[in-house]
Amino acid sequence: MKRGGLISLTSSGLYCKAGDFYVDPWKPVKRAVVTHAHADHAYRGHGSYLVAEPGRLLSQARLGEEARVESAPYGKTVDINGVSVSFHPAGHVLGSAQVRIEHKGEIWVVSGDYKLTPDPTCEPFEPVRCHHFITEATFGLPVYRWPKPEEVFGEIDSWWRRNRERGKASVILAYSLGKAQRILASVDPTIGPIFTHGAVERLNEAYRESGVRLPKTTYAGSVTKKSEFAGSLIVAPPSAQQAVGWLRRFGNYSTGFASGWMMVRGARRQRAVDRGFVVSDHADWPELMTAIKAAEAETVYVTHGFSPEVVRWLNEQGTNAVELKTKFVGDAVEETLPPEEAPE
Ligand SMILES: [Zn+2]
Ligand SMILES: [Zn+2]
Repeated sequence: MKRGGLISLTSSGLYCKAGDFYVDPWKPVKRAVVTHAHADHAYRGHGSYLVAEPGRLLSQARLGEEARVESAPYGKTVDINGVSVSFHPAGHVLGSAQVRIEHKGEIWVVSGDYKLTPDPTCEPFEPVRCHHFITEATFGLPVYRWPKPEEVFGEIDSWWRRNRERGKASVILAYSLGKAQRILASVDPTIGPIFTHGAVERLNEAYRESGVRLPKTTYAGSVTKKSEFAGSLIVAPPSAQQAVGWLRRFGNYSTGFASGWMMVRGARRQRAVDRGFVVSDHADWPELMTAIKAAEAETVYVTHGFSPEVVRWLNEQGTNAVELKTKFVGDAVEETLPPEEAPE
C-alpha cells in the first residue's frame, strides 16, 4: 500500500489515519466502520461501530445489546475528524455496504463482500468510482459463473416438491446470515411448511424487524411430533449437519447444500449431502470484473480468496493491482460459529 496514503493496512486492520478510524478491524479498536454483519467483518469488542442503516438491527443482534452501534443511510456523508465517509449498497446481505472514504481529493472504496446478482433481501450493488478500490476475490477464478437465480431456486423448489410427494423432509444447509434468508425469500412457500434452526430463526427476526418480507417459518425446536416435518423444508446452518442427532428428529429426509463451492466437482460428495445448489452471496468471476471496471480506480487492492490469481489477471490486462493480506475469510465465515450459534 502506498505510504502516506489515506488507508493503510495495520495489524488491527484497514486504518484511516486522517480520520482515526478502522474499516472491519479484527482487533479491538476505538472506532470501527463496518461493511456488514458477518463474523469476519463485524468483530466484537470495538468502542463504537458505524454501519449502514438497513443493517443496524442485524449488527446489533450479532454484536450484542451492549455494543455501541450507530448508523447512516446509504449515500449520506458522515464527517469523521474531517474525513468524508459514506455507505453504498454492496448487494451481499441485508445492510451490506461499500465504504467510500474521501479526504483532500483522494477517494477510496472498501467494498467488503459484494455480489451483483439480484437478491430480494437486500439493495442491489451500486458501482462507486474511486482512485483506490479494495475488492474481495472469494470466487476469483474464471470457472466461477453463477446460474441465474430463477434457475437455481427453481431446482430447489422441484427437489422440495419431489421430496414432499415421497413424504420426505428437505433439509437445506446454508449460512444463517444472508444465505438462509435469501433462500426463504426465493423459494415457493406454497409447497409446504418451513422450519428453521435456532441460529437461522434469530436472524430471521432481525430481517423481519428491518422490513424484509420472509415467508412464515417455525423454529424446529418447538415441534414435538416428527410427523409434522414430513414434506416440509428445513433451513439450517452447515454446522447442524455435524451435530449428532440434530438431523435425526426429521425422520425420513433428503439433504441439500447451498453454496458457490457446489460448482466444484466433488464438493457435494465431500459435504456428504444428496444435492448441491450453486447459491453464493459473493461475486462470481464476471461480476468481479464488472465491479472492478466500474470503479475506474488507478489501483485495485485484492483481498482473500483467489487474490494472487485476480492480481495477475488484472496486471496482464494493464490494470494496476496489488494483493492485500487481510483477515477476511470469504465464504467460510460460518464454518466456525460463535458459541451462541452452536447447533441446538
Ligand atoms: Zn460476508
Ligand atoms: Zn467476508
